[in-house]
Parts: sequence; C-alpha cells; structure tokens
Amino acid sequence: MKSEIEGYLRMLSHKELNPVNYSLELINYKEITKKSAQGELKTSLPINDLLGKNICITFYDEIRCVDCGKITKKSFAGGSCYNCLLSLASNDFCILKPSECHFHKGTCREEEWGKAHCFQKHIVYLANSTGIKVGITKENPFSKRWVDQGAIAGLPLLEVKSRLESGLLELEIAKYVPDKSSWQKLISEDSGFIDLEKKSKEILELIDWKKFDFHPQVLSPKITEITYPIRSYPLKKKSLKPNFNEPLNSELLGIKGQYLLFPEGGMNIRSLSGYKVKINY
Ligand SMILES: [Zn+2]
Repeated sequence: MKSEIEGYLRMLSHKELNPVNYSLELINYKEITKKSAQGELKTSLPINDLLGKNICITFYDEIRCVDCGKITKKSFAGGSCYNCLLSLASNDFCILKPSECHFHKGTCREEEWGKAHCFQKHIVYLANSTGIKVGITKENPFSKRWVDQGAIAGLPLLEVKSRLESGLLELEIAKYVPDKSSWQKLISEDSGFIDLEKKSKEILELIDWKKFDFHPQVLSPKITEITYPIRSYPLKKKSLKPNFNEPLNSELLGIKGQYLLFPEGGMNIRSLSGYKVKINY
C-alpha cells in the first residue's frame, strides 16, 4: 500500500452499467474550525482498480454533517446532524414515505426546496435487487437509483408529475410486490432472474385505477440490466461498522449497491457519509 487519502466519506459515485464503475468520494474543506466547515473539495478514488487488493480504512472518531459541515456526535438519515435532521425538507419523513408528502397542507419545511424537488417528473419502477421490488425515483437516468440499490435489473413502469403521485402509486403496487430488499441477501448472493416485463403486465392489471384523480403515463417496459464488479461474496452476512480503535485492513472482494464487500462482511458506505477516514491502498 503506497497511496493514502483522507477526508469525510460521501456516497459511492458510479458510471456505466456492465460492470458498474465505482469511485469512492471523499470531501475535504477549504476552511475548517471546530464549529464549521466551508468550501468542499472532492477527491475521487476509482475503486474498481482495487478489486482483489488489500485496502486499509482507518476511522477517526469524527463526523461532519453532510448538510452543514458541523461536527456531530451522531449522524442521521445518511450523514446529517440532529439539527439538520429536524429542520431540512430533504430530511423530512415524507422523503422516506413519498405518499405522505404534505406540501398541499402548506406544511413543507422548505417550500422552495419542495417545489424544486417534489414537483417534477417521477417514475414508479420495478427492480430486481434481492427479489422483485417497487420503488420511485426522479433520478436521471433511472438506473442511477437501481445501481445504488444493488439491483441487477430495472424496468420503468409509470410516469407522473409529482413525488406525491408516485408515492400513492407505489403504495398501491406494494400490495402485490415488496417495496424493500434484504441487505443480508444483497451482500451474500447473486439475485436470480425475474421476468420483470411479465410482472409489470400483471401489476398494471391489478392496480385499482379508480382510486387516483391523476393520470399516470404507462411507460414502455424497457429492461436495463446491471452487473457489479464482484470477485466473490463475503464469508459472513455481516454489516461492518466503524471501529475507531482498529482499522479495517482487508481484501476488497467486490462492490455492489453502496456496499464495499470484504471477507468479513459488507460496509454500507452511504450510511457512513460524513465519517472522517484515512484510506491506504
Ligand atoms: Zn447539520
């Protein structure tokens, strides 16, 4: 191991689909004090190249909020401090449950943010992550969302004009297919084939359209297939947490979704956003 980088973790970024080409993203700041941090500087490390090699991740006992840059003892909702968790619209409960979008009640935490993010084209999709699941996204391309979930295939089903509409449809479809996947399966096995096109036809027949006072557009069921850079899976179905006393020094077996795979288990990088680390490779 000859190289070393240091900074605050962010979600893995990626491009291409077969296989997905990942980069580990670290943030540093131009100005940093105990109370604040400003001027983000990004370092990207292409990590597909490190497959089969040992990397060493040292966790400092320090987290900086991904929203405001302040030091926080604990992080919530993918790297936010408690204050940002409670105040930002991007951290509101309706982000996890889009069917509970409450903009129309005039209670959005940040009206401008809500207008910009929740009132644009959203799609409802089917994906095969660890089995079939339904989900929604406004990502462009849609496949960005599917890769972050570790799905091996995705199919756009319906298009609507707002987050709330997509959430209501998702809720309806979740009667017939799950809206969750299993991280234990994700980090331990390849998903089997599912005929998403056939499933999509079945689901469109089952939806109770009368319930909705808006008109979703049915999309052409074009399947996107995705493969991940994986040499082998971890020996244990374990979610690796930061150990501040001992670095993780291990062989990178693969990358799937937002997980780095090591013999000891999978490390969910998204959930560690904001953590300060040193990486030797
Ligand atoms: Zn914050």
